[in-house]
Amino acid sequence: MQMETMYESLGVRPDVFAFGEEVLEGLRERFDAIDRVAEYNQAKVVGAMQKNRVSAQCFAATTGYGYDDVGRDCLERVYADAFHAEAALVRPQITCGTHALTVALSANLLPGDELLSPVGRPYDTLEEVIGIRPSPCSLMEYGVTYRQVDLRPDGTFDYDGIRAAINERTKLVTIQRSKGYQTRPTFSVEQIGELIAFVKSVKPDLICMVDNCYGEFVETIEPSDVGADMTVGSLIKNPGGGLAPIGGYIVGAKKCVERCAYRLSAPGLGQEVGANLGVMPALYQGFFLAPTVVAGALKGAIFAANLYERLGYRVVPNGTEPRYDIIQAVELGSPEAMVAFCGGIQAAAPVDSYVRPEPSPMPGYDSNVIMAAGAFVQGSSIELSADGPLRPPYAVFFQGGLTWYHAKLGILMSLQKMVEAGIVAL
Ligand SMILES: *Cc1c(COP(=O)(O)O)cnc(C)c1O
Repeated sequence: MQMETMYESLGVRPDVFAFGEEVLEGLRERFDAIDRVAEYNQAKVVGAMQKNRVSAQCFAATTGYGYDDVGRDCLERVYADAFHAEAALVRPQITCGTHALTVALSANLLPGDELLSPVGRPYDTLEEVIGIRPSPCSLMEYGVTYRQVDLRPDGTFDYDGIRAAINERTKLVTIQRSKGYQTRPTFSVEQIGELIAFVKSVKPDLICMVDNCYGEFVETIEPSDVGADMTVGSLIKNPGGGLAPIGGYIVGAKKCVERCAYRLSAPGLGQEVGANLGVMPALYQGFFLAPTVVAGALKGAIFAANLYERLGYRVVPNGTEPRYDIIQAVELGSPEAMVAFCGGIQAAAPVDSYVRPEPSPMPGYDSNVIMAAGAFVQGSSIELSADGPLRPPYAVFFQGGLTWYHAKLGILMSLQKMVEAGIVAL
């Protein structure tokens, strides 16, 4: 087999390839375990499709109001069943993850209600949705207040603080599964279940919403299996399997999801309207592929962690920790290293491989940001991508890869560029 030659033809030198192979030697067992989770989740998805009798009819495009859209309605039942939930709202009209979360929150919070985050600060874009950073049309403007309980220094839940924060106005609890761009740990579904059980023991009628972005199919259970009333995410991350060109989902209790549908379209219309515009084949097939795509992304994250850890870099999570999302942080220590790393990810892409990522200013950030992505779907972060702000500790956040082999190529190429820049010597 001419593997080494093939990689060399793409620009990965033999010593870099050999180093990667050495690292991989130690990862076989972990990869096997990931494959078993994917196998289980594949069965879960196929089962939901069979139960709901998915047929060629479901793939037809609809336009206009979209009344009686068989494909759209069936896809929502497939999602509901795969997540073991009563109901689902899965729509191309949900433009992104932030939009899905906004719909879930604003549909279920009324003036005078309070929103509680028991896991510290939410994802950046949610700050304006909630009104933590003042913003037109925020929940704050509509009279919904917000309270937050930070995690304890060791990253665990502050149960006493949470109990004290829950009051007669607390209506909805938002729990972010993934660490996002923070340094706290990502929570396992089991941990989320414990937290939900706790807040409901304090106040049984609380609505628990989980921001599930980047977490879908990483484990064999989802937040909807452990008491979440709403589980919410983006279709250009894990559950879209790389094929969904747009969309978001909300699965959970019927009474909550119905309100989300009224908020998304209009009171009285709800789930009845919303043409599918021809995206159904991609949404079904993407969901079908998602368990294996997520497995590939996870292998890439674990490979990157072990490879860079061996080179002496701090990586979060570390090489051996269990995984609850697909994000990998690598603290590279210098702007030059970030540029080299991201240059490698970009050079390995199937799309836009010839462009060179440069640090530049970004709205909402106080330092320059560098981003590498060569994706079929713009901004899709289930596809191989890396980004990070140019400030200490100069960490890149690396995620995705539609196939394990592409993720591997990206990581080898990142190392190749680091070697070429004289930052790493093998
Ligand atoms: C990506 C993400 C979001 C927001 O999703 P967008 O599609 O970028 O709007 C929210 N929460 C978490 C944890 C995320 O990773």
